[in-house]
Amino acid sequence: MAARGTQGGSLMKVLIVGGVAGGMSTATRLRRLKEDAEIIVFEQGPHVSYANCGLPYHIGEVIEQEQSLLLQTPESLHARFNLDVRVNSRVTKIDRANKQVTVSNLLDNTEYQESYDQLVLSTGAKPRMVPIPGLERALVLRDVQDAVKIKALVDNKQIKSAAIIGAGFIGVELAENLQHREIKTTIVEFRGNILPQFDPEMIEPMQKVLIENGIELALSAETETVNESTLTLKDGRVIDADLVVAAIGVVADHKLAVDAGLEIGEAGGIVVDDQMRTSDPNVFAVGDAAQKVSALTGQDQMIWLANLANRHGRLVADVIAGETVAARPSIGTGIIGAFGIAAALTGLTEALAKRMDIAHKVVHLHPGSHAGYYPGAETVSLKVLFDPESGKLLGAQGIGRDGVDKRIDVIATAIYAGLTIDDLMNLELSYAPAFGSAKDAINQAGYVGNNIFTGKTGSVQYGDLADKMAAGAMLVDVRSESENAAGHIPGSVLIPVDTLRKNLDQLEGREVIVHCAVGQRGHTAVQLLKGHGINAKNLDGGYTTWSQGMDAKNRATTN
Ligand SMILES: Cc1cc2nc3c(=O)[nH]c(=O)nc-3n(C[C@H](O)[C@H](O)[C@H](O)COP(=O)(O)OP(=O)(O)OC[C@H]3O[C@@H](n4cnc5c(N)ncnc54)[C@H](O)[C@@H]3O)c2cc1C
Repeated sequence: MAARGTQGGSLMKVLIVGGVAGGMSTATRLRRLKEDAEIIVFEQGPHVSYANCGLPYHIGEVIEQEQSLLLQTPESLHARFNLDVRVNSRVTKIDRANKQVTVSNLLDNTEYQESYDQLVLSTGAKPRMVPIPGLERALVLRDVQDAVKIKALVDNKQIKSAAIIGAGFIGVELAENLQHREIKTTIVEFRGNILPQFDPEMIEPMQKVLIENGIELALSAETETVNESTLTLKDGRVIDADLVVAAIGVVADHKLAVDAGLEIGEAGGIVVDDQMRTSDPNVFAVGDAAQKVSALTGQDQMIWLANLANRHGRLVADVIAGETVAARPSIGTGIIGAFGIAAALTGLTEALAKRMDIAHKVVHLHPGSHAGYYPGAETVSLKVLFDPESGKLLGAQGIGRDGVDKRIDVIATAIYAGLTIDDLMNLELSYAPAFGSAKDAINQAGYVGNNIFTGKTGSVQYGDLADKMAAGAMLVDVRSESENAAGHIPGSVLIPVDTLRKNLDQLEGREVIVHCAVGQRGHTAVQLLKGHGINAKNLDGGYTTWSQGMDAKNRATTN
């Protein structure tokens, strides 16, 4: 094929490597902007524009038809967008000096060169593999063919048990779907909790739900060997595993870029500027293969999420079409559901803030998803981080059976807009009893945060409680007798909030930490005690957060 391009003629020729999220967003947007550009998309697999996010649900038969995962075909993309989409076509080399790539046709093993004016890499991420003896038997879940392979084993009743190595998003989603198919499933996770992107106390309710639904969790566990139909852990446990899936995380699939001498960053991805340009001005990179800049830390990081791949794919098309646009730093917002419970997060977690030495204050709360008097209200556990000086929001996590997605999306939007914890009090959010509360969970996060931010109510985090008590602080349970009898924190003294004024003599001169179920009565108690000159703080998130934290800690050491 003769090279056409800006050097030789007026038409622009753009090659795109990778025909899914980022690549196809670039291709279709560019066509809408440039009717006369020549656009060729190379995809090494047999499918383009497939729904990777739906793959686990096809295995679980929630998405019954494989066809439903295939959003477009080369033919449909040609008909509507006049795109030249070449499947089973792997780009094996980039010759930057001559601005051409080598393409291998995987069907007939032929090779050819194709020239470009601009090249876009959206080659994605591939499953991370680690040196575990026998791991070559493990399957992975990256594309439609992987899903079809796993599903066929289940459909043909060839497997009764499965071990998934790695409890990230893909591992947990796959576990839920295998369990739906009545496969006895164990998740083996090196760290102390599943979904280590979350803080432990925030993900504990999902751990409970997985276990209640029959999934076994082997936490703080390392795989020693993968055997013929089992898996041996380093602690000696042997796990039934007709099927083994490696879901140990992903790494950027950037060999092409590495071989071409493009700059690779410390976070492990292709270095790009805010227009997604690599170290070569004619080569762009988007999606899972490219690094992002964190809006919270200013540092480079990898964020493996479909929304950024799509957004940056669109942006590259704008840049190539000559528009002046730039990507904003990324916040990182994700969600996962299993067996009816959802966990979502945006921005920094407490663990990350601590690791990066970023000053932060934390608020835990457990409001209802909607008005408690209207049927079906569920608890939404929220954790919000903010900057102690400016009050700016830094991150949030949420977990519950209803209303988690909207709360985290509101906070993600607030972080994007640079809002503060106080701003959350003032947001005017939609309300009717079936959908929210007059004081929505988001407003409540603002109220609690404002009390902490302004110093009205000092708080103690569950993880610091034992040290504070060892140093002499008195822990007062201000709940009712029946709540206390149902479960209490060792070493606490019961003084229900309504009887506090009669018991002030027990507390005078002491450093007092109060707690209730979720923190609300605790706040009232702190204000009351402060009014009587007593140094009091509130256990953030109350007994509920403390229990979740302790359960997570115990699970990490006993599983
Ligand atoms: C099972 C699963 C579930 C997921 N669930 C979610 C979710 O719920 N939410 C979410 O936000 N994200 C999810 N993701 C992540 C999301 O799919 C990715 O972030 C997104 O697809 C990245 O887009 P991309 O264009 O960078 O890469 P991809 O969409 O992975 O596309 C890359 C394509 O490039 C092709 N390719 C690579 N090298 C070459 C080459 N040399 N020549 C030709 N073709 C090549 C690959 O075959 C691949 O098809 C999930 C991913 C998986 C695997």
